Amino acid sequence: MTNVKKKDGKWFGAIVLSLILLFSLVFPYPVMADQTAADQTTAASVYAIHKTGDDKENFVIVIMGEGYTREQQEQFLKDATAKAQGLLKWSPYKEYSDRINIYAVQTVSNETGVGVMYGESNPDTYFHVQAFGKSCYFAKDGEDKAKALRAELESRYLDTGAAVGTIHIICNTTANIGSSSNALFSFSANSDENEQGDVMTHEISHSIGRLGDEYDKKMQGENISDTSDPDKIKWHKMLGFRGIGITAAGTETVFAPGRVCMMRDLGNPFCEVCKMELARRLNNRDYVSRQASVYVCDPEITIPHSRTGTLDRDSDQYRIDETNITKANGKDLEFRTVVQNIVDAKQHLKITFRITGADHTVKYEKEETYTVPPLSNWYDPDAARESLSVTLPAVTGLVSGDRLEGKIIDEDTGKILADNQTAGQAWSTVTIRYMLQNEDGTETTVPDTAPATVYVPKNSAYTLRSPDLYGYTCVGNSANQGEINITEDRQEITYYYRKNSEMPEIQTVPVRVTYDGKPHTFDIKQEDGVQISYSLTENGSYTQTEMPFYTEAGQYKIYFKAEKASFIPTYGEAVLEIEKASTSMQLTAKNDTVKGAGTVELQLCRQGIPEDAGIKVTCDVSGITLEEKGTDHWMATLPNETKTYTFTACYNGNGNYTGSKADCQVRVTADHSQTGGGSGGSSGGSSSGGSG
Ligand SMILES: [Zn+2]
Repeated sequence: MTNVKKKDGKWFGAIVLSLILLFSLVFPYPVMADQTAADQTTAASVYAIHKTGDDKENFVIVIMGEGYTREQQEQFLKDATAKAQGLLKWSPYKEYSDRINIYAVQTVSNETGVGVMYGESNPDTYFHVQAFGKSCYFAKDGEDKAKALRAELESRYLDTGAAVGTIHIICNTTANIGSSSNALFSFSANSDENEQGDVMTHEISHSIGRLGDEYDKKMQGENISDTSDPDKIKWHKMLGFRGIGITAAGTETVFAPGRVCMMRDLGNPFCEVCKMELARRLNNRDYVSRQASVYVCDPEITIPHSRTGTLDRDSDQYRIDETNITKANGKDLEFRTVVQNIVDAKQHLKITFRITGADHTVKYEKEETYTVPPLSNWYDPDAARESLSVTLPAVTGLVSGDRLEGKIIDEDTGKILADNQTAGQAWSTVTIRYMLQNEDGTETTVPDTAPATVYVPKNSAYTLRSPDLYGYTCVGNSANQGEINITEDRQEITYYYRKNSEMPEIQTVPVRVTYDGKPHTFDIKQEDGVQISYSLTENGSYTQTEMPFYTEAGQYKIYFKAEKASFIPTYGEAVLEIEKASTSMQLTAKNDTVKGAGTVELQLCRQGIPEDAGIKVTCDVSGITLEEKGTDHWMATLPNETKTYTFTACYNGNGNYTGSKADCQVRVTADHSQTGGGSGGSSGGSSSGGSG
C-alpha cells in the first residue's frame, strides 16, 4: 500500500493559481497577504469566538478589525470577544445563542486608528475605513477586500455549504462612531458606549434585522412606520402587547412601536417588534439550514389597557401574575402572545388559559386554536403573523393562592412552545470549552478558540452538537452523552478534538489483473468526507467524478485530486494494468507412427483461446493437404514413403490474448507390399489396410 502524499509544488501551485484567478477576475489585489505569507491557510487568522454547531446550521457572524497593527492583534481578539459576548446577552440573540456562530478575522493594518473623511488624519489601515460624523465608510478597495475575505471564509474555512450572515468591523479608535451600510456590513469602535458591545449590537441589528433607528426620521424596517393608523401600521397585530403601541420616532410623521428599545437608546432591551424581526432574520433559510419554524413572543396576562398608547414600561401596571391576581377581579383577563411563522408551512397552534383555586378546582378555563399562514413571501412577514389570545370576561372571585396557567401549544407535535412563566424563566449559562487531545496524551486548548457561553432555560435539556473546528474533528465531550440536563445556574461542557491531518488520507494500490472480458477499475481508498475528482491526463482538469472502468487489456493511469472541507487538496495517480490472457494448446495425432500410405487424424485441444478464434494447422512438408473435419479436428493424407512429418497449430493472439503454438509429429514407414506410392489410397483410411 502506498500512502499518497502531495506532489511537490503541485497543490501549492494549484492554490496559488486559483487565488490568482480569483483575484485577477474579481479583485485586482492580493488579500490576506500578511497571513498567507506565514500560513497557506486562513486558520492562523481566524479565531472562533463562539461556535456551538455547524456553520451551515447556525447564523454566522464575522467580526473584522480595522486599524489594529500587528502588535495589536491580541487586543483585537479581546475587543471582538467582549463585544460578541455582550451581543449575546441581549434578547433575541440570547435565545438563539446556540444557533449563532461568531468568528473574528484578524487583519493587520500598517497604522493604528481609523481615518476621518476630509480630515487630516488618515492612517494606513487595512480596509481604509473613514468616519464621517458618526458613520463609517469603506474607502479605496476596502469593501472589496472585506468581500474577498468573506469569499475565502466561505470556500475554505467555514463548514461546507455555510454562508456568512453578516460582517461587523470594529474600528480601533475611541471615537464614538458606528453605522450599518447594508445587510452585510456594519461598524462600531472602542468607545466607552461600546465596551460591552452595545453599539455593535445596535449597528449589527440594522444589518441583520434591516431595522430602522427609532429616533430617526428615516423610513426603514419593520419597526418604523409612516402611518399611525392602528389598522395599517406594520405592527398592527402586536398593538397593546408588551408595551407595543404607536409613538413618534424622530419626527411627528414617522412612528415607532415604543419609547424604549435598543434601536432608539443604547443599553435598552429590544422592543417586541424588533425582537420578532431579528428572530425571523436569524432564521433566514438563506443562512441557516436548521431554522426554527415559529417565533413565539413571551406571552403575557393583562387586564384591559389602551392598545396604542400603553407604551413599553407603562404596560407593567396592567400585567397580572399570581402575586397580584386579585387586581383582576371585575375585569376582563386576557392571555396573549404574538407569533411569527418563519417557514413556508402553516402552523396549527392552540392557546389555553386556566385559573384554578388552591384546592385545584377550575375557576375559569378557555382555549382557542389558530392556523398561522405560511411565510410564503419573505417580504411580507405580517401575513404570516398572528396575535393569539383568549379573554376571560369580567372574572370574579379570584383570591390570593389561585393559580394561573396559560400555554401556547403546537397542535401538530403537542409541544408547549411557551407559557405564562416563559417571560420570567431563569436562564442558565453553559460554557463550552474546546480541548485538543494531543498524541502524547496531554490536553491543550484548541488554538484560536475562546470558550463559548450559551444561554439555556434552566431545567431544560441542552443538546450537545459536537461542532468540528477548522482543522480539528470533535471526537467526544466531557458528558459522554448527546444531551445534558441544565439544572444549575452555570454549567460547563468540554468538547474534545483531534487534529486533522494536513491533507486527506488517500491510499492507492496498483491493480494488475488478467483480461477476463469484464470491466476493471483502479484501487483508490479515501476516508469519509473526501471527494475525489479525476483527470485522464497529467495536467488536465479534474472534471470526472466517477472512476473509469476498462475491459480491454492495456496499461491505464489516472490522475486524481482529493478534497475535503478545511483540508489542502491532495493530488496523486493510480495505475491499472490489464494483462493479456495467456493461451496454450496441445496438438495430438491419433497415431504417431503409420505404416504405408494413409490418413492421420489430428486433434487440437485449446486452453484459454476464444472459441471463435480461427486456428491454422500446417505441415512442414509441402504438398501435404489437411482437411478440416469439424471443430479442431483435421485429417492429413500421407504417402507411402518413409518420412517424419511435423504438424504445427498456431494461434496468433490479439489485443486481449497472447498467441500460442503447438506441434506434433507423425512418422510414416514405407510399406513395400503396397502398390504405387505417392498419394494413393485416399479411400482406404486404414494405414494397415492393403490388398494382398
Ligand atoms: Zn424596537
